[in-house]
Amino acid sequence: MKKTKILLAALILLLLPSFLASQTPPEDFLGHKVGADRKLADYGQIQEYFAKLDAESEKMKVLTIGETTLGKPMILAVITSEENMASLEKYTQITKRLRDARGLTPQDAKELAKQGKAVLMITCSLHATEIAASQMAMELAYLLVTGQTPFDAEKALSDVIVLLSPTINPDGQQMVTDWYRKYVGTKYEGGSMPWLYHHYAGHDNNRDWFMFNLKETRAVTKVLYHDWIPQIHIDEHQMGSTGARLFVPPFMDPPVPTVHPLLWRGVALCGTNMAYDLQKNGFSGVVHGRSYTGWWIGACDDTSWLHNTIGLLSEMASVRVATPIYIDPTELPQSYVEKRMEFPDPWPGGWWRLRDIVDYELTLSLSLVETAYQHKEDLLFNFYKMCKEAIEIRPEGQPFAFVVPQKQLDYPTALRMLDILIMGGVEVHQAKEDFIADGKFYPAGSFVVLMSQPYRPYAQALLEKQEYPDMRQYPGGPPVPPYDNAGWTLPLQMGVTCDRIDHSFQTALEKLETVEFPQISAPDESAPYYVLDSRHNASHAVVFALMKGNAEIYRSHNPIEGDRYNAAAGSFIVKNSAGVLKLLPALVQKWHVQAYSLDDASGIEKSRLTNNRVGLYQSWRSNMDEGWTRYVLDDLEIPYTTLHNKDFKGEKDKKVDLKESYDVIVFASEDADMIINGKPSPSSPYARYFRGANIPPEYEGGIGKEGVEALKAFVEGGGILVTLNDACGLAFKEFDVPAQNALERVSRTEFFCPTSILRLKVDNQTPIGYGMPKEAGAMFSRSLAIRTRVPSGEWDRKVVASYPEEDVLMSGWLLGEDVIARNAAVVDVSHKKGHIILIGIRCQHRAQSHGTYKFLLNALLYPEN
Ligand SMILES: [Zn+2]
Repeated sequence: MKKTKILLAALILLLLPSFLASQTPPEDFLGHKVGADRKLADYGQIQEYFAKLDAESEKMKVLTIGETTLGKPMILAVITSEENMASLEKYTQITKRLRDARGLTPQDAKELAKQGKAVLMITCSLHATEIAASQMAMELAYLLVTGQTPFDAEKALSDVIVLLSPTINPDGQQMVTDWYRKYVGTKYEGGSMPWLYHHYAGHDNNRDWFMFNLKETRAVTKVLYHDWIPQIHIDEHQMGSTGARLFVPPFMDPPVPTVHPLLWRGVALCGTNMAYDLQKNGFSGVVHGRSYTGWWIGACDDTSWLHNTIGLLSEMASVRVATPIYIDPTELPQSYVEKRMEFPDPWPGGWWRLRDIVDYELTLSLSLVETAYQHKEDLLFNFYKMCKEAIEIRPEGQPFAFVVPQKQLDYPTALRMLDILIMGGVEVHQAKEDFIADGKFYPAGSFVVLMSQPYRPYAQALLEKQEYPDMRQYPGGPPVPPYDNAGWTLPLQMGVTCDRIDHSFQTALEKLETVEFPQISAPDESAPYYVLDSRHNASHAVVFALMKGNAEIYRSHNPIEGDRYNAAAGSFIVKNSAGVLKLLPALVQKWHVQAYSLDDASGIEKSRLTNNRVGLYQSWRSNMDEGWTRYVLDDLEIPYTTLHNKDFKGEKDKKVDLKESYDVIVFASEDADMIINGKPSPSSPYARYFRGANIPPEYEGGIGKEGVEALKAFVEGGGILVTLNDACGLAFKEFDVPAQNALERVSRTEFFCPTSILRLKVDNQTPIGYGMPKEAGAMFSRSLAIRTRVPSGEWDRKVVASYPEEDVLMSGWLLGEDVIARNAAVVDVSHKKGHIILIGIRCQHRAQSHGTYKFLLNALLYPEN
């Protein structure tokens, strides 16, 4: 008996390698070749295939790293040698030790680099329509575990741990696949979806890598900067169809200044190796050094630079999702026809297919595995070196620290900012005693972000003001626009006081693992009224929640001075009731705001809030600003109804009465022609993004003339129409508002301001300005300078916020300050019984600019006249 058992075991052992050698190729699993014309694997299939390979190979393990917004598991494959697989914890500990270089000598670091393994992270198809990489990932995993690579995979995987995410936007991948499959073989094949390819963010999900609004971003960030800390990270994308076939780094100017030069060299090394390997294998049309800058835009791959990780971007020429396209050689732009040093082998034109993209991406991904293998020790040691210099060397003129004082206009938002910093891997401390820094007194409890820390480039880039270099096409000529943001300074966006400290100081500090929100004392049950300070964004959330319970709430016209508090103008006065007592104690704990007691409200000038019913327009043009607006409302648990074109149109002979169902209607930033007609006017800068031809008829058009008429009646009848940024055009075009956009016909040489933070002067004694500081930073992104005029008839206007006379730029880049100075940014226009609130800046920009949320929140809570 015993003998048979041993024999059996031996037999199994003998058979084991051949069992394991039989990994299923993706084409056998899918029933078609990866990247075949008009064939896509959806997220469910990708997940299933990854699980299969995991079961079939000892070299691959699939982890779940989080959950998507819509509840799908986010998977990550770990691919490495069997030996490494058994000691993953040991290797991540080595990398963590190398990052925190304090007390680690170069000799020790060298030794650790020898023992450690290089970690390469490959993230795919963040932008879900750029779908090829999600397909490619299956074949890449298969080639790696079966050793079908241009190098000795056995050896390479003994020194490299590959982390492969087939898509970091699984919800979007599924949506795009479903849409594509629905219309394949029809005239709508390969066309755009009428909605965003993520529940909230669409293409902007690549601008969330410091704010971490999205669950997907948070899951990947944890892998990148907390759990695995790769030395190389590539994010694989696609771009337009007619330029280069592929972009790989190096990037073009300008570089973000806080990044270590060695990092840029590492980027160039990996980029050049990819280009070399592609060329070697006959892949033409590879470009570097164009289009994509080294200026941080908050994107996934470039956030890695700021964490001393070699962050790489690949951008393949697109097909129509999975449908091949033919590009006539004459359709290639001249700059992609001529040979250049950064583009030595132009692609000749012809057919271009999904499989072509897969082939390029397989080659460049495998090239990175080889580079990581060849340079393993060097990569680990240099990671240590960059982190060590970040800790030890403070370059001339650079800050010593940033201090976030406890005294804040909106303390919960300040804490939220610190929480976001910690999520991004920043070390945040709290002072245990009073101290003086740069001549200013700070009490114990103040928060300190020392620049001496491994991720200094990141911490500094987020906290300091950006000065984008004045780049022109030729001296005195038009500006060279940045790829995206020129400025993003987090404290300015969030309205948080944060002081830059240039001189070193010493004080007792405690490092925070998490941010503790203060305990909020329970509201005094016997108080006749409660006061919630209008300066806290969270107060608005509490008010919305109380209104669901039909509470009686007012806004004070003036500041309220209580026994132990001062509340700003516009603060909320909540009348105590059984219903309020049921909700309020839990709400103040949840939102971290104090409900102050008030004995008597009779002497306070105030207006009653009605339980405004909010509608938010959603076009069929996948408008990202609408998605972010929805995000902000959901985040603050503000109830709203999404409105579509049909909701602005009546049935048969009956006109629609919007006022019957809504008190406030919000239009997120969108071109007026898009809102009205569903397509931009041909002269609009958006016209080039519009691919309207492939839209099924049920998604054509806009709210139409009928909708505009319904909106007019809505405003006249007492409704509040809120137009955000571009949508102000709707008011200028269709209503006789006493205002216009001063930037409408201004050339780029006269005025240019790529996404930057501008200074606003705010009237915070008026309903739309309530709770704002007198001076605030506002995100300007294709925004407006509103010139009001003396009104006539039944119109009136109140300027709520305007650009100052000078010193308008706070962070980023601004040319032509004179053009914008003294113009309005936010205007409350009244007409008959209603209002049109023109918000000419991005007050809820990508759910990042918490400092100006109040313009929108106040509009939603517009009190009774
Ligand atoms: Zn992309």
